[in-house]
Amino acid sequence: MIKLYNTLTKRNEELKPIHPGLVKMYTCGPTVYYYPHIGNMRAYVFMDTLRRVLKYNDYKILGVMNITDVGHLTDDADSGDDKMEKAAQKEHKTPWEIAKYYTNIFFDNLQKLNIDIPEHITKATEYIPQMIEFIKKLEAKGYTYIIDDGVYFDVSKFPAYGQLSNKSLDDVGVARVEENNQKRHPFDFALWKFVSENHIMKWDSPWGVGCPGWHIECSTMSGDILGDHFDIHTGGIDHLPIHHENEIAQNDCAYGHRVVNMWLHNEFVLVDGGKMSKSLGNIYTLDQLQEMGYSPLSYKFFCLNTNYNKKINFTFDALKSSQTALINLKKLIAEHKSSDAKTSPDTLARYKKEFLDAVNDNLNTALAMGVLFAMVKGESKSHDIYELAIDFDRVFGLKLDEPEEKVESVVPVEVKDLAEKRWQAKLSKDYAQADVLRQQISDMGYSVLDSKEGYVIERK
Ligand code: AMP
Ligand code: ZN
Repeated sequence: MIKLYNTLTKRNEELKPIHPGLVKMYTCGPTVYYYPHIGNMRAYVFMDTLRRVLKYNDYKILGVMNITDVGHLTDDADSGDDKMEKAAQKEHKTPWEIAKYYTNIFFDNLQKLNIDIPEHITKATEYIPQMIEFIKKLEAKGYTYIIDDGVYFDVSKFPAYGQLSNKSLDDVGVARVEENNQKRHPFDFALWKFVSENHIMKWDSPWGVGCPGWHIECSTMSGDILGDHFDIHTGGIDHLPIHHENEIAQNDCAYGHRVVNMWLHNEFVLVDGGKMSKSLGNIYTLDQLQEMGYSPLSYKFFCLNTNYNKKINFTFDALKSSQTALINLKKLIAEHKSSDAKTSPDTLARYKKEFLDAVNDNLNTALAMGVLFAMVKGESKSHDIYELAIDFDRVFGLKLDEPEEKVESVVPVEVKDLAEKRWQAKLSKDYAQADVLRQQISDMGYSVLDSKEGYVIERK
């Protein structure tokens, strides 16, 4: 039995797939206008863990993740510029080139984090006709109205609006209708935005030339592949109050019934106690971490040690500890691998149960990691323990079976150069120079361990 925290009902609920044995899930993918940062990537580490836990429990998955390559404005609530067009102007490229470039980088990041990729990846720009059909359906049912800058959804026709974030249509607070005073209610949102002639990404529609609203993208692409009733929808917590409320409104009104059974949201990665975000300029990318000598999987390890729905504060000390712990874990597992000894089936079954109970309890990877460490540290060396550790790695996806040299390979090139010069100095018996170089390596946070065959560089 898998229990998951459903943000819609605010309870831990047992997963009961609509089709026994098959889980249909949708993940809000990235807006590809800039480098994904490690905060963004936590959303996909979470998706990965969920997929892996489902597979560990023998479920089949039909998963969809979108790529938002048009329509996401700089403000979630339909004001500001299109992020893609803005990036294109800044970088003197077309929005299509921007989308292609950053989509490739996003996939490279997924691969580096060993993320299990959904069965379907859908690009918003490839679903425009279906989006137009979706809007026509809402229009036919009387949920839309047209104003100067687009076709809007009329939230007053959906009194249940706000369930996910616990707000009602009266809770407008200070959300005055500012820029767009033709909107009937501040929560009304654009389904189709009219754009000027010089806008590059634009399509014909029954209402005029324009581009889709961001929210309609997800409702259309999920419905197209998963149908009008599916099990799980995931995304980052920042999508909850606007994007996901709007998806629910569109879905429930178009189909006349609830479409998504469970909503799951990952919490933020914080930096110095505040949100890490592109707009605040306090972001790190996986590539930057790698240049500094941290492997992407150390970052994944860092994420897995806090449950997906708790905030985590990113610090380099914590990342360094994660890298060290991951290297140690691999070493311990490798020691079990080379043993011929056996472990009793009862002991193995106990660990397996503890592990399964942890991951099936709302993906408690932190507890599950504790079970793995307790097992590989506490039990005497045995090949059975090795096999069970690698079985647990089906959930973590940390490549625990790969030799730790892979992790070493992310040592910065400057450090590698110094280590090589030091080795050459030692071979030519220039010990004074070798000591100077050792000190320089140490100042950069690394140490070198010598053996007969050569040397190994380690983070201190
Ligand atoms: P975006 O490309 O802005 O649509 O974001 C991609 C995903 O990253 C979404 O699911 C966001 O909710 C999520 N996200 C954005 N910032 C953070 C953060 N600091 N920590 C965790 N998730 C985030
Ligand atoms: Zn979405």
